[in-house]
Amino acid sequence: MQNNHNKEHLYKILVIGDLGVGKTSIIKRYVHHNYSPNYRATIGVDFALKVLNWDQETVRLQLWDIAGQERFGNMTRVYYREAKGAFIVFDVTRPASFEAITKWKEDLDSKLTLANGKPVATVLLANKCDQGRDVLTNNGIKMEQFCQENGFVGWYETSAKENINIDEAANCLVKHIIASE
Ligand code: GDP
Ligand code: MG
Repeated sequence: MQNNHNKEHLYKILVIGDLGVGKTSIIKRYVHHNYSPNYRATIGVDFALKVLNWDQETVRLQLWDIAGQERFGNMTRVYYREAKGAFIVFDVTRPASFEAITKWKEDLDSKLTLANGKPVATVLLANKCDQGRDVLTNNGIKMEQFCQENGFVGWYETSAKENINIDEAANCLVKHIIASE
């Protein structure tokens, strides 16, 4: 029997962070289930669509991949417009990419808020965790505190290469987006 109450949600999700941290690789892994070690900087804007069954509802995530402009460290308002959530990504092997996180978060929050004036749900991704333990995130309590102080709803150590925690991170983001609606 058809359920006429089956709701559909379409969410624009931003994937931001410094060049080379693995944004494109994470999206490819999540949406297309593959990974390529060959570095290819994206040119233009890339979109990918991920469809999730969420309870009795359908969630469509439209993932926006920054394409080369990340080297400037800030984006235009137009790019951020109407996004409902974001991943901010750093590379656990590159401390500078972690230091850039707060800059990305400030840029995002200064240019985008939900209709109710609140910042959009943002999840922090510590990517390339397959490269070994990293000095920044091996203390879970500190990262929890960092997230609270900087307005992240959660954080995950991820690997696009080994397919670690990407689904979990996306589910966390969706959960917070739905809860805030
Ligand atoms: P972007 O500029 O943020 O989109 O980064 P890319 O997705 O293009 O990745 C930059 C480089 O890091 C590429 O050579 C990727 O193969 C590599 N890379 C991305 N994710 C991972 C990962 O989880 N582990 C490892 N070891 N390498 C990764
Ligand atoms: Mg890219």
